[in-house]
Amino acid sequence: MHVIDITPSANGTALVLHGGAGGRTAELTPDEHREYAAGLELAYRAGRAVLDAQGSALDAVCAAVEQLEDSPLFNAGRGAALNAQGEAELDASIMSGTGRAGAVAAVRRAKNPIFAARQVMENTPHVLLVAPSPELIAEWGLQVVDAEYFVTDARRRQLETVLAGRLEPTCHGTVGAVARDTAGHLAAATSTGGIVGQHEGRIGDTPIIGAGNYARDGIVAVSCTGIGEAFMEGVISHEIYARLRYGGASLAEAVRGTIVDELDPRAADGGVIAVGADGAVVVAHNSTSMFAAYERDGAIVTLT
Ligand code: ASP
Repeated sequence: MHVIDITPSANGTALVLHGGAGGRTAELTPDEHREYAAGLELAYRAGRAVLDAQGSALDAVCAAVEQLEDSPLFNAGRGAALNAQGEAELDASIMSGTGRAGAVAAVRRAKNPIFAARQVMENTPHVLLVAPSPELIAEWGLQVVDAEYFVTDARRRQLETVLAGRLEPTCHGTVGAVARDTAGHLAAATSTGGIVGQHEGRIGDTPIIGAGNYARDGIVAVSCTGIGEAFMEGVISHEIYARLRYGGASLAEAVRGTIVDELDPRAADGGVIAVGADGAVVVAHNSTSMFAAYERDGAIVTLT
């Protein structure tokens, strides 16, 4: 397992994001590594700009995830993994440390599913909406796109390879961000296309509050990536929260212990990013690699 543990910054703000733990980074060329690093850095700067302008953690995680959804490189928004029918069905969720949450699943027409999740949180009495209609997306003032917008040639080729059995059918990824703002509030946002070749209608952990995403002021904000079924069965984000709140664990212990006890026995690979009440940051994964970006000693670090 790989665990990165970063102490809080002087002003207590923090931002960390991930671009999925299912990528085959060993197969990337140096140029591709640079492209992923640039995409992560762009997203990091978008979120960091919000925090530096005294913006909220909620706005910061949305700004970072929007960039990752718009990039065709990551498995969210444009460039998302395709289901067995060759279609993109997108899931996303957001949670404010104040205790409110919103999520969408099987989204086919909202350009940025993370904004749809935020609308559910802020403008409906619900937490999770499945397949929001183009009319509703437009009513929310969000951009509606054709289903084809999400589909890239690279993902089409990947799906063919998976369906032909030449690539293991657990090819996956997700994007996410967690943040702490100057007021000490926490937030988490997560967005995905799911697992390549997944059954139509399959929904993973990403839009399930407590599984792929969770935030509670004064405790932790968590965003996950990996085989979603295991993250749901292990209720991974809430398990990390519970170990901190009731078990007295440190942030790194809570994350590491949860991966060891809940993911490893399920033979599930994946990763977690978390920010603690004081702005400490942990990036951890039991997968061979994980795309991520965080800050150490004032410099942006990207993992590709
Ligand atoms: N957790 C996502 C899902 O199962 C996939 C991933 O993060 O790799 O839908």
